[in-house]
Amino acid sequence: MNCNHYSEMNIFEEGLNNLGITLTDRQKQQFIDYYELLIEWNNVMNLTAITDLKEVIVKHFIDSLSLVKVYEPLSQKVLDMGTGAGFPGIPLKIAFPELDMILVDSLKKRITFLNEVINKLSLKNIITIHGRAEDLGHDILYREKFDLCVSRAVAKLSSLSEYCLPFVKRNGYFISYKSDKIEEELLQSKRAFEILGAEVESVAEFELPGSDMRRTMILIHKNKVTPHKYPRSAGKPTKEPL
Ligand code: SAM
Repeated sequence: MNCNHYSEMNIFEEGLNNLGITLTDRQKQQFIDYYELLIEWNNVMNLTAITDLKEVIVKHFIDSLSLVKVYEPLSQKVLDMGTGAGFPGIPLKIAFPELDMILVDSLKKRITFLNEVINKLSLKNIITIHGRAEDLGHDILYREKFDLCVSRAVAKLSSLSEYCLPFVKRNGYFISYKSDKIEEELLQSKRAFEILGAEVESVAEFELPGSDMRRTMILIHKNKVTPHKYPRSAGKPTKEPL
């Protein structure tokens, strides 16, 4: 990304304006550096199918940041479950540097990439953890320690709730980035929410600025402590959803 990319940067600015986010030059440079690392590393490992700059801006950066439509990210402790190439965690951390962020993924190669991003962008108060949700959810270092857990494109909502809710403090939130038509998923997750101690607070559906892509954001409030037996052992939440 350089000065030849005026139109793409304009799309980014428009998207940011639409979300009410203002970035400093340093933060914009961090997004540029992130894009360049993503493309460079994508040549040697599978990080993203989207490589066109405009598409990365809209479908990865703006999409990740669209969380602000349902939640105000202050200086909370946030966990991004199944972060992959860093979405939504890295864009949120760049735009809201006061967040205390943990990125979790079960694929070691992606964690190696993310450590390089953190290092090159000089991001502070952000760490990566290589591991599975089902194991880390029982670790006292992480269990019920987060104000917010976010997750995009990892699993069906009922399984994902079992991955994510054990990390959330009582009265904290889990936000699931979903696509259209989530009625059935919501219905299938009702029992999981009850068991895990949570309820849906709101569902927001909107078009991403600068595209015709739609996003549905589900805001889930954790109102009770999650029983100790959850999450169940690795693989169970997806094979036998609650
Ligand atoms: N969130 C990113 C995004 O939206 O671009 C990545 C999505 S990718 C389709 C799903 C990621 O979740 C993969 O990187 C995978 O390794 C990770 N994942 C899947 N199941 C997991 C689990 N049980 N615990 C931790 N990570 C998991």
